[in-house]
Amino acid sequence: MKTEKLAVTEQAQDVTPAPGPAAATPNGSTHGLNHSPKHSVENSKAIGKLNGKVNILLVDDRKDKLLALNAILTPLGQNIIEAHSGKEALRLLLKNEFAVILMDVSMPTMDGFETAALIRKRPASEHTPIIFVTSIGNSPTQMYQGYSLGAVDYILTPIVPEVLRAKVGVFVELWRKTEHIKQQAERLREVEEAEHRRQLAEAVDKLEAETKRNRFFTLALDMLGIGDFDGHLLQVNSAWEKVLGYTEDELKGVTPSELVHPQDLPIILERVQLLKQGLPVEYFELRCRHKDGTYRWVGWTAAPFPAEKLIYIFGRNVTARKEAEDKVMLLNGELEKRIAALTEVNRELETFNYSISHDLRAPLRSMSGFAQALMDGQASKLGAQEADYVRRIANSARRMDTLLQDLLEYSRVSRASMPPTTVNLDGVVSEIVTLREREIEQTKARVEVKSPLGSVIAHMPTVQQILANLIDNGLKFVSKETTPHLQVWTETVSPNGNGAGQRWLRIWVEDNGIGIEKEFHEKIFGLFERLHPSHAFPGTGLGLAIVRKGVERMGGRVGLESQQDHGSRFWVELPAETEPGK
Ligand code: ADP
Repeated sequence: MKTEKLAVTEQAQDVTPAPGPAAATPNGSTHGLNHSPKHSVENSKAIGKLNGKVNILLVDDRKDKLLALNAILTPLGQNIIEAHSGKEALRLLLKNEFAVILMDVSMPTMDGFETAALIRKRPASEHTPIIFVTSIGNSPTQMYQGYSLGAVDYILTPIVPEVLRAKVGVFVELWRKTEHIKQQAERLREVEEAEHRRQLAEAVDKLEAETKRNRFFTLALDMLGIGDFDGHLLQVNSAWEKVLGYTEDELKGVTPSELVHPQDLPIILERVQLLKQGLPVEYFELRCRHKDGTYRWVGWTAAPFPAEKLIYIFGRNVTARKEAEDKVMLLNGELEKRIAALTEVNRELETFNYSISHDLRAPLRSMSGFAQALMDGQASKLGAQEADYVRRIANSARRMDTLLQDLLEYSRVSRASMPPTTVNLDGVVSEIVTLREREIEQTKARVEVKSPLGSVIAHMPTVQQILANLIDNGLKFVSKETTPHLQVWTETVSPNGNGAGQRWLRIWVEDNGIGIEKEFHEKIFGLFERLHPSHAFPGTGLGLAIVRKGVERMGGRVGLESQQDHGSRFWVELPAETEPGK
């Protein structure tokens, strides 16, 4: 660090470099010449600031006068710095600030006035107070010259120490106060700067958030907009133009009545009223007019912000869905009409079926009666061939009668009303089995009924018909080598699987017969559908059709589990009778 002697010798007015750090006396003043402690020139200001003391510059070419001034001012407790010439004073002023300068007027080479003039020229020291020290003999002209150069005061020698101390003390105080104000100003500036920085950061954050929001706003595929409480649009995103064809500027000018289909106008006006009151509105759909005059269906949601008197709007083009819905509705209407027509045709066919089946049975009965009469009374007169013909006629008539009976039954099951009652399944099954006792005996069949089967709420005759058909099939579709084994049992099921609601009874009829391949499981329930020729297993192909029709009309379900050669299990589900107390 460069150090300089603040006290300057009489001979050498230039600053003499001295090694080592500068030292200050406890009160910060410097004394004397060679013997005085040395200060760093740069440090003098810093010392003043650090120890709260201010700098006072004494300029005089005479050591004794400097000594005297120093002694007078030391009690002020400030940093007293001495210069032995105007030149040295100027050098010190270059790097230091002084609260006041005490300047001897008459100095060799550069007198006090010249020095003061140079001091004033420098911006840093142009306002530093200068007190000229001069002898009483100086003329007033000289004094005026001093004032014109910026002297704030004159001290005449001999000096009155108290007066000098008081005057210098005033300037020290002035300096302190100025410094204090400067510091306060600096602090204020710092605070203002911090506030400014904070505001700036806040603005940047806001801008960023806005940019992000704007990005969402512009990128959204849906229609986003902001409107006022009068129903005018203030800001919209580009989706509006894609959906409705109007530019943002065009949309800003339109009112809801211009944009919305006349029939939908009440909807939007009502919603705007609610929004104006700050109330939320539920999703709603209405038709908006495209710039080309056609309409688009738009689904809307909107939220009011009463404080800002703004409405935030969200819209989605739902035209495609609406059109699809309209088409579906149209198709549904047509479908319903067709179903009604088909039902009517069906009803007519059933009536026709019934009357044909019914009416055909009378001539058939006479046919079979006459054939029987021929066989009974005239058998001896008939040749072998004639007798065979008559037998065939009788067989055909019987088969046809069975077919007509089944058709009539199908017709009944399709049309008759089916008032439900409690049907005791044990009773029904036992009756069916009893009626087939002879056949069961002949085939050595085993019929196993796992009683109690329970009761269902259904139409008794139809339940009888259904179970009879299933039991008959179970006994019939068994290979010749197998002794038929039939099992009937029930289980309780809940159709929705969670055990709640209506309980159902599933009635199982299982045989050990020829079984049915999976691919035919649905087909066999159709009218006249048979998997085997009549000579292998007689039948009409109507039994299972009657079963399905009957079950469906009672609100139940029917199905089966079966594999070829592994027997079949048919099941029927009907509403179970509610047990008392349940
Ligand atoms: P039908 O018994 O008069 O032939 P169904 O409508 O009762 O008519 O049955 C249709 C067809 O389903 C039968 O021809 C037969 O091929 C098959 N089928 C019905 N029940 C069984 C069964 N238990 N085992 C094997 N096949 C059956």
